[in-house]
Amino acid sequence: MAEVTGIGKIGKNGLLFNSQYGPRLLLGGVVTTASLPVSAWPERDEKGCPGNCFACQEQCPIQAIDKNGKVNRAACIKYSMKSPIFTNFMKTPSVGSEDIQMINHLTAVDDHSMYRCIRCVSVCPYM
Ligand code: SF4
Ligand code: SF4
Repeated sequence: MAEVTGIGKIGKNGLLFNSQYGPRLLLGGVVTTASLPVSAWPERDEKGCPGNCFACQEQCPIQAIDKNGKVNRAACIKYSMKSPIFTNFMKTPSVGSEDIQMINHLTAVDDHSMYRCIRCVSVCPYM
């Protein structure tokens, strides 16, 4: 969606890359029935990550990003996310796959997790 609006391209760390803000843009949206003119901001032709930069891939502490920018999300989440809800849940005697799915959806919607790694964003020289 963000690529279509012209505000960036998917970068080598799997995140939206903008030549001014690097991977530090978040996509937000408003649902409306208003008839609005087509617009894009910033109005530019984004080219994506420069060919000679691999900082995010090289500095991931667990090598979760491959050369094509595909992120091993399971490995990344396991390393970077600490969820008190999930930790407490795992202490219960029987946990099934449906329970895991439910807790994943819950943390995605109402995230009380802590993140200890965002290195693939912080090392990007574009800001
Ligand atoms: S958040 Fe950390 S562990 Fe996950 S891909 Fe980025 S650098 Fe790697
Ligand atoms: S660190 Fe380099 S390769 Fe990674 S997102 Fe930033 S510009 Fe792109």
